[in-house]
Amino acid sequence: MPPRTRLWLDFVNTDAAAQLPGGDLLRDFEALLTWLQQEQAVDEERAAGIRRRAVLQPAAAAATLVDARRVRAALRALAERGESSERVRDDAVVEINRVLGRSAGTRRLDPDPAGGYARSFVPTGDAFAGLMIPIVESAADTLISDELPRVRRCADPRCHRVFLDGTKNGLRRWCDMGTCGNRAKAARHRARTAVPQ
Ligand SMILES: [Zn+2]
Repeated sequence: MPPRTRLWLDFVNTDAAAQLPGGDLLRDFEALLTWLQQEQAVDEERAAGIRRRAVLQPAAAAATLVDARRVRAALRALAERGESSERVRDDAVVEINRVLGRSAGTRRLDPDPAGGYARSFVPTGDAFAGLMIPIVESAADTLISDELPRVRRCADPRCHRVFLDGTKNGLRRWCDMGTCGNRAKAARHRARTAVPQ
């Protein structure tokens, strides 16, 4: 069964708009690295190596964070408007190829902790350069598998979360039934049961 979520969409949902009122989840390089580790986009051993490098090369780490946010902005545009705008799609593809093109490394297939398998990319050379690879590959997979029509922003105008609609009928509207979906249901219920003036 394909995963219900997509790494690149989870990545988009770390931004300040989606995290309101908490602010950007990726507030510094360490937060970015921790997030990637939680998502198993970088393994523990590599993360430890990158952490040591980040202490020695703070400017490179800071630049990596700026770049990650740039990638994230392009991917938010792709998630929200990519389906309706070819220009947005083209821009995202340029961004994806920019990241893919500057990193050299080795692709691997590894068992994952859940008992399945996961693709991984082990960069050679600049350790920072490969960090965004799993994110942009996930976005590339969405484009390749023609999944983009199933990607949308939550129907609650206050909510900026993006999601993949995995339902059969493709009519999912809320990022999460437990929060935004319930809020909408309660609002409809209130409207129905309101005493007419
Ligand atoms: Zn929502």
